[in-house]
Amino acid sequence: MSPTPSHSASRLLILITAGFGLALGAQAASHDDEHASGAHGAASSQEEPKVIAKDSLKQKMAAGKAAAKAEKSDPKAEPTSVSMAELRDLIDQKIAEVRAKQAAAPAVKVVNKSPKPRAVAMSGQVKQSMAAYGAAAVPGLPAGHDLHWEYTGTAGPQSWGQLKPEFKTCSSGTRQSPIDIRDGIKVQLEPIQFDYRPTPFRVIDNGHTVQVNLDPGNNITVSGRRYELVQFHFHRPSEERINGRQYDMVAHLVHKDAQGRLAVVAVLLDQGKEHPMVQLVWNSLPLEKEIEQASPVMLDMNLMLPEQRQYYTYMGSLTTPPCTEGVLWLVLKQPATLSPYQLSVFSRLYANNARPVQSASGRMIKEGQ
Ligand SMILES: [Zn+2]
Repeated sequence: MSPTPSHSASRLLILITAGFGLALGAQAASHDDEHASGAHGAASSQEEPKVIAKDSLKQKMAAGKAAAKAEKSDPKAEPTSVSMAELRDLIDQKIAEVRAKQAAAPAVKVVNKSPKPRAVAMSGQVKQSMAAYGAAAVPGLPAGHDLHWEYTGTAGPQSWGQLKPEFKTCSSGTRQSPIDIRDGIKVQLEPIQFDYRPTPFRVIDNGHTVQVNLDPGNNITVSGRRYELVQFHFHRPSEERINGRQYDMVAHLVHKDAQGRLAVVAVLLDQGKEHPMVQLVWNSLPLEKEIEQASPVMLDMNLMLPEQRQYYTYMGSLTTPPCTEGVLWLVLKQPATLSPYQLSVFSRLYANNARPVQSASGRMIKEGQ
């Protein structure tokens, strides 16, 4: 079998394909010209050669068909006849492909759009859990302004689960926070790697607490997973208890990983020396609720942490509605200190914004040594 016939056949195919492509180009160009104003005079002058190409394609295709017919009618035809038949099929196939592509073009656009709602739904989920912790997901918008829950009265912690269907976990959940941390299993826990740096920050009184929203750039790594610090806020008195003991206050440093999982570092706060970093936050307290106050200085979160970094850890929940579970809690054993005056500043705003302790329900608690 000589390679020549198939070679010439493929050369013809290339010519036809090229011609067809040009013809399509001419069609597209003339279509565009219909919409273009007369200002694009140059466009119409390009039309002519393309029309010629289209005509020459017709000629080539006609020639190909005629050749194929002639070959077919000759019973003694060389292998060329097979090639020409194949070629005709290929041409038909090519035309069908091009037509299919043209027809499919709008459908492809729709397909490209379809994954978007899913992505929105995921980020919405994350946003919901962050909003629950009062993170200002949308800069400039007040955080948590539509959550009608309180720390006392009819909308108090005992009722949170009944306030809204999405708060149901607050009453039905079995891995809720805070808890009284006791009977932890004493083990060697790997240290939390804090990667904090001076960062611009904004302070907001969101109606439930004083919260500090931070620019990105502060991270922790724990159990090989990296979480970014999003915000921190305060409770008075401390929500968590250690062997029954409640502290004057606690700071919750809320971190989130790329999948939206939360890890909260709790820094217990005891009365003692003034806390220089907390003072920077108090200095930027906004005059009105639900309005973010940007600070002119940076915040170095390393200064928030006590010297000793041993911690307790357990799996719990958000301590505010919707009380979402699956939150990794990292409660530092050594408290930091606030001056009596610093404590009184927060008391004037929130005398009690601590959820009562929840049942530990036999959960595993680990205590680092
Ligand atoms: Zn908290």
